[in-house]
Amino acid sequence: MKQSTRNLWLQTITGIMILILMMWQMRQPRIQELDSGYRITMGTFARVLVVASDKKTAEQCVKAAFETFDRVNAMMSDYDPNSLLSEVNRRAFAEPVKVDAALFEVLTAAVKYSRLSDGAFDITVGPVVQLWRKANQTGIAPEPQALTQAHQKVGYRHLLLDEDNQTVRFAVEGMLLDLGGIAKGYAIDKAIEVMRQQGALGGMVDIGGDLACFDRPVGGQPHWYIGLQDPDEEQRYLLRLKLNNHAAATSGDYRRFAVINDLKYSHIVNPASTQAADSLSSVTIIAPSAIQADALATAVSVLGPEKGMALIESIDQTVALLILSARPIKLQKTTGAANFIAD
Ligand code: AMP
Ligand code: MG
Repeated sequence: MKQSTRNLWLQTITGIMILILMMWQMRQPRIQELDSGYRITMGTFARVLVVASDKKTAEQCVKAAFETFDRVNAMMSDYDPNSLLSEVNRRAFAEPVKVDAALFEVLTAAVKYSRLSDGAFDITVGPVVQLWRKANQTGIAPEPQALTQAHQKVGYRHLLLDEDNQTVRFAVEGMLLDLGGIAKGYAIDKAIEVMRQQGALGGMVDIGGDLACFDRPVGGQPHWYIGLQDPDEEQRYLLRLKLNNHAAATSGDYRRFAVINDLKYSHIVNPASTQAADSLSSVTIIAPSAIQADALATAVSVLGPEKGMALIESIDQTVALLILSARPIKLQKTTGAANFIAD
C-alpha cells in the first residue's frame, strides 16, 4: 500500500473513533445540580440542593420537597389555628382525637426523646412556651404564679397515645403540644425520602439551619460541607463539618430569643423549672436522621453541658458539638465529633 493511501486510512479510522467517542459522551447522563435558594416555610427559611441526572428530575425534587414542608407545617404548626395539631390542642382533653399517621409518628418519636432525655425534651411544654412568647411581645417577664400554673399542665406522661386507634388524649386539662423542637427534623427526613423516590442522586435539605444530606454531594466533592455558625457573628463560621448521609441540627439562644428587661432569653424552656435554658449558646447534633438530631439538640440545650454530653455519648452514631454560654467561645465535643470536622 502506498504511503498516501495508508495515511488516508489512518485519518478515516481516527475520525470514526473520535465520532464514536463524541456520540458515547453525548449519551452519558449530564449531572444537574439545582439550588432552590432560600424560601420561607415553617416559620423560617428553607433551602434544597439537588443532584440529579436531568433538569426535570431536579426541578421535581425541589417542588416535592417544598410541598412536603408545607404539608408538615399545615398539620403540625401550633401558630396555625387550622392545623391538626391545634385541633388536638383544643379537643384532646375532652375526648380521644384521631390523627393522621404522620402526626402520630411525630408524637410517638417526641415521647421517645422525652424518655431518653429524662423529660428535658418535652412537647407538652406548650403552656410555658406561650407565657414566654407573650413576654417577648410585651417585654414583661411572666408572673411566677402564671409559670407555676402552666407547669401543672406540663408532662409527657400526661400525653396518652393509643397506637391501635391512632388517637391522642390529654390526661390534664389545658395541656398544649408544641412541635417546634422536632417538626423541622421530621419534615427534612420526609423531604429526603420523596427526593429519593423522585430519582435524586443526592441532595441537601436545610430548614432554618437544621439539615440533612444524602448520597452524591454537589460539585463532585467527597463530602457535603456545612459551616458551623459563630453564635456571636451571623456571617462567620467557626469550622466546617463534613457529612455524608447525616443530619445536623443546631439549637441555640442566638437564633431565636426574647428580650425582656434588656436580658436575652432562649426560646427553649426547661420543662422542670419553666425557665429559659441558659447554659449553652449553641448545640449541634449530628445523627443518622434529622428528627433525632433536632429533638436531641433541643434536649441538650436544656440538659446543659455535663448531662448533655453524657446523653449523646450514650447514643450510637450520634455526636455533639457544644458552645458554652461563657466567653471567650469554647467548643466542647463528644468522642466521635472530630471525625466530622473538615478543618
Ligand atoms: P429548636 O429550635 O429545635 O431547639 O426548638 C425550639 C422550639 O421548641 C421552641 O421555639 C419551642 O417551640 C419548643 N420548645 C421549647 N422548649 C422545649 C423543650 N424543652 N422540649 C421540646 N420543645 C421545646
Ligand atoms: Mg430541635
